[in-house]
Amino acid sequence: MNIAVVGGGFSGLIFSLKLLKAGADVTLYEDHMRVGYPPHCTGLVSGRVVALIGEAARKSIMSRYEKLTLESGGVEVRLKVSGGVYKLDRIMLEELLLEKAESEGLRVSMGSKVSKVSPRGLVEVGGAVKAYDSIILAEGYYGSLRGRLGIGYINPPVYGVNLEYRRGNTDAESILVSFDPQTSHKFFSWTLKVGDAILAGTGVRDPKLLKQRVQALERKLSLSGMIKAYGGSILTGPPPPRLSLGKIHIVGDAGGLNKPLTGGGLYPNSLAAELSLRLLKRIREPNETLNKALNLIAERLSMQYKIAKLILGDSELVKTALEAASQTRLNIEIGELDYDRHEEIIAKLAANPVKTVETTIKTLGKAPTTMLKAALKLLLA
Ligand SMILES: Cc1cc2nc3c(=O)[nH]c(=O)nc-3n(C[C@H](O)[C@H](O)[C@H](O)COP(=O)(O)OP(=O)(O)OC[C@H]3O[C@@H](n4cnc5c(N)ncnc54)[C@H](O)[C@@H]3O)c2cc1C
Repeated sequence: MNIAVVGGGFSGLIFSLKLLKAGADVTLYEDHMRVGYPPHCTGLVSGRVVALIGEAARKSIMSRYEKLTLESGGVEVRLKVSGGVYKLDRIMLEELLLEKAESEGLRVSMGSKVSKVSPRGLVEVGGAVKAYDSIILAEGYYGSLRGRLGIGYINPPVYGVNLEYRRGNTDAESILVSFDPQTSHKFFSWTLKVGDAILAGTGVRDPKLLKQRVQALERKLSLSGMIKAYGGSILTGPPPPRLSLGKIHIVGDAGGLNKPLTGGGLYPNSLAAELSLRLLKRIREPNETLNKALNLIAERLSMQYKIAKLILGDSELVKTALEAASQTRLNIEIGELDYDRHEEIIAKLAANPVKTVETTIKTLGKAPTTMLKAALKLLLA
């Protein structure tokens, strides 16, 4: 089983590692001379993702948080996260993943830009063409190969930025997630303490608004003494209808394999790679395996997309829901939050019918249109 991986970002690296473990011969082509650069990601993942990635993730842990504080319009709801949330050093993670994959037999071709891939399994680099049983296309959001194939992710992104500061108001135990439309635009902002620094970030759908929203966030949390800034495109779905074409399989940001509520790519791709490893041990045919694994993950992300669209598209709804949750203590009834499985939010509410109805009735008095619209959208989803 001879597999080519195009792109050495997180997705290409985790698929390389898991496919090597399944017994495949893997060759990785990466355009740049080193992995992990330029950084763009915040690096927040659940304990589940740390376990799926393995040793490279455990060694890259910078800090751990027990709680998320959800905020809008001055109303805060604090939720415990099952298994905690970890902040990883993203550059170190990719360097360690590469090191580990090389020790497992990965063939690496750095500084190699793939100019063409074909559904028959052909990969063209620097004028030479090689044949593979399967191709993992992990070229990221800005890659140009999938456009010619007519598959993969094409939707416009959220523009996200991470900023590190020396000073500011934040809590060491909890990650603050704010749905305040003054500090983000149809997305949210995030703030956490990492060592002595404060990491704050925000996302906007319209890039022209980025500077103004960052300034508002700085004022709101008294952030000062900026150390560095980095960012990129955050993808919020929905996953495209096709992720495979012949022997080509698109993963990572190129395939829109991201949690639609947060844009997180590490959970869906480590899960898809692990699933591919397990299926490959049984099926032994890489194209059928990869097609099956990617479709399963995309299906799960499509379910999350319905909830994400509702939450990210309506800041008034979030504010109303947070007010209601804080008044009825629904957050305590819900218990712990699953950082990855957002599709379970609805199931959790349904499992607490009395509190959910109580919350809805209380909130209806205040914001009937918002709540009724939200309920209708969920029923129709
Ligand atoms: C601001 C921000 C915050 C984020 N926070 C989180 C978070 O907290 N948690 C989380 O899980 N996710 C987060 N994400 C998302 C996460 O960073 C991405 O989903 C993930 O990094 C995507 O990895 P990738 O390998 O698919 O793509 P990329 O990292 O873009 O890698 C693609 C690679 O392919 C190479 N390449 C492209 N074309 C070719 C070619 N033709 N030949 C050879 N090589 C090629 C590129 O050089 C690049 O190295 C965040 C993203 C942003 C922008």
